[in-house]
Amino acid sequence: MTDHQITKIKTWLAAYDGPDISIMEVCGSHTAAISKYGISGLLSDKLHLISGPGCPVCVTPTGYIDRLIALSLEKDTTVVTFGDLIRVPGQRKSLAEAKGEGASVEMVYAPTDIVRLAKEHPQSRFVFAAVGFETTAPVYAMLLEQLVAEQVSNVQLLTALKTMPPVISWLCEHGSGIDGFLAPGHVAAVTGADLFVPLAEKYRVPFGVAGFGAEELLLAVYGVFYAVVQYRDRGVVPSVKNYYPSVVCAQGNQRAKELVEKYFEPCDALWRGIGVIEGSGRRLRAEYACFDAGSDQLMEDHKKNPACCCDRVLLGRVLPGECPLFESVCTPMNPQGACMVSEEGSCHQYLMYHRER
Ligand code: SF4
Repeated sequence: MTDHQITKIKTWLAAYDGPDISIMEVCGSHTAAISKYGISGLLSDKLHLISGPGCPVCVTPTGYIDRLIALSLEKDTTVVTFGDLIRVPGQRKSLAEAKGEGASVEMVYAPTDIVRLAKEHPQSRFVFAAVGFETTAPVYAMLLEQLVAEQVSNVQLLTALKTMPPVISWLCEHGSGIDGFLAPGHVAAVTGADLFVPLAEKYRVPFGVAGFGAEELLLAVYGVFYAVVQYRDRGVVPSVKNYYPSVVCAQGNQRAKELVEKYFEPCDALWRGIGVIEGSGRRLRAEYACFDAGSDQLMEDHKKNPACCCDRVLLGRVLPGECPLFESVCTPMNPQGACMVSEEGSCHQYLMYHRER
């Protein structure tokens, strides 16, 4: 974009004075990028950006964490996880706290680390915490491909995989008041931008597939707000626009999609604070059940702290600052809910952003 185009966009966003418009950024990485670039500060007070349920750690139910902790206490069993999940509170404690008390928990940076651990300790079982959206599912599928090829039999997955379209449908059907969506660029890189076309058509809301750089994000934010105005004022039918063409195409990554299909099938899934959404998860197919650590035993969700509003924050119904625990009791060092743990979590970002201003 030229400087002139950027100025025009900023002017439009700041000067908008029509009826209120709310668009949701579904992806946690977008929440972080919007805060980092100060995009909310460019908007008129009639335009609202709402964070949604796209941070994988934030939507993982407490029952899943509790189950991981229970597994980490079983004989000859080690729970293996990526990054932030280790600090997410279960009903009583996190995996990090359980590890401090002697539970067997390891953090890894790549699936190859798990294969190495499994080969070094053939008598032990390694349970991998497999959470995430369409973006991460291919990583688990590639791990399974390697386990099968190398006949490694002491690794299992505890799956809590989620998919985007059902939760967006859920939001549209539960009076969320969302006029448009910033669609997640990482997800669309795997699935293709066309994933969102049926949703745009069914619910008559525009989608903008957005990247994560300042300019491409600004353009997508403007594009979705502008599409809402065009629909409202001129009846222009909402559609899906791809503002991230350097990475996202219409059909996505065919190889990655085939690999995910090979190992996983759709299932109902429990979302923290929301409940069960039909068909919104992925589980291992029956022929690969030997790699499953009991993922179907997870239908529980209890708050660690009853005053935590993560459920309503994830749906954009309250701002993090409206939670009575925000910053006083709940901080990144002492998270009471998942939204404060992950750097992609709304509460974490809200705290950092408001401190920085
Ligand atoms: Fe939950 Fe903490 Fe966010 Fe409140 S501030 S909603 S307790 S994560």
